[in-house]
Amino acid sequence: MELQYSEIMIRYGELSTKGKNRMRFINKLRRNIQDVLAVYPEVKVTADRDRCHVFLNGAAYEPVAESLKHIFGIQAFNPVYRVAKDVAVLKTTVQEIMRDLYREGLTFKISSKRSDHHFELDSRELNHTLGSAVFEALPQITAQMKQPDVNLKVEIRDEAAYISHEEVKGAGGLPVGTAGKGMLMLSGGIDSPVAGFLALKRGVAIEAVHFASPPYTSPGALKKAHDLTRKLTKFGGNIQFIEVPFTEIQEEIKEKAPEAYLMTLTRRFMMRITDRIREEREGLVIVNGESLGQVASQTLESMQAINAVTTTPVIRPVVTMDKLEIIELAEKIDTFNISIQPFEDCCTIFAPDRPKTNPKIKNVEQYEKRMAVDELVERAVAGIKVTEITPKEDDEWDQMIEDLL
Ligand code: ATP
Ligand code: MG
Repeated sequence: MELQYSEIMIRYGELSTKGKNRMRFINKLRRNIQDVLAVYPEVKVTADRDRCHVFLNGAAYEPVAESLKHIFGIQAFNPVYRVAKDVAVLKTTVQEIMRDLYREGLTFKISSKRSDHHFELDSRELNHTLGSAVFEALPQITAQMKQPDVNLKVEIRDEAAYISHEEVKGAGGLPVGTAGKGMLMLSGGIDSPVAGFLALKRGVAIEAVHFASPPYTSPGALKKAHDLTRKLTKFGGNIQFIEVPFTEIQEEIKEKAPEAYLMTLTRRFMMRITDRIREEREGLVIVNGESLGQVASQTLESMQAINAVTTTPVIRPVVTMDKLEIIELAEKIDTFNISIQPFEDCCTIFAPDRPKTNPKIKNVEQYEKRMAVDELVERAVAGIKVTEITPKEDDEWDQMIEDLL
């Protein structure tokens, strides 16, 4: 008999401390796990107050476990064997598991628990019987009650018996969505996906807002943002991708304002539009990848000029990080190699050589008076295109972009 894990039991993370919101948290986490595991159609997910159960139904354990390791809100999980409630079966199963794990000097213990009180052995008797079975199979093995190498947990429930011995550490954090929703300003660069990841970690669901300026920006730039968004789905499930038509605004800015102010004006429009989209879609905050001092445009003065168009809280998760720290995280979450693909986004193309490091609000407002700001913003908002991105590769979309490139 080849033993196969039948189920994965998930322990909740920080949310166990959240009192009466507990069920709301748990349901959110369950839905996130369902989204992420949707690529394994045979897998079923259920949740109760204490545990979430992932039933493999024949799916391979390893890839599912790999997916679970990324989902925020999971503290740890245990893969479990489900076996018949029969003493003889339990004995041969623990023997087989221990033979498989055995190496010289290995210590073990059996921790039984009986929630079906009609079962013929109580937990003490089970420990004894199954422990003896292990000694029978492996006479050299040592039992050890404190910190054994293997703690074989046996649970007798109404419907079956469950055996587990492995504990896998989860990603921690909070289930995505439990903190509310934010709009992530997602370029094709290195920083904004990392900012999105950090927001997700603290339970903020994100919708990705991406500004595209075709024909100045290529379908490749759009695909980059799309692919980056898909990378972010593995931490908590599907993400809405919002493409904003930005060409008209960039042309207007280019025509009406001096070169040194292009960057500031562009960013102010982006911020206004993102905020309008946030309002319509009931987000609570804006998240972006701004950081300090990497380029001349990333000064506090510049941040202030850009931020002046809204009172909505703007979360900047990477603002105090060094570029190398950001890159390290980007590599860890597997976005770095996408971000460095050479497709220019709208900012790069319209960026002046020497952006103003200290933009004057008075000047900025002067230039904006030359444009129909509100109408431009509303037209862009009316033109957005929303796509739901799932963890599953989107071959059709990829092919469409390939054809355009
Ligand atoms: P990133 O690596 O995220 O592109 P950056 O270091 O290049 O950031 P900037 O180009 O100054 O910094 O952009 C600052 C932030 O503005 C980005 O992190 C992103 O949140 C937002 N942003 C810039 N361009 C776009 C775009 N085309 N679509 C959406 N958001 C954008
Ligand atoms: Mg950039």
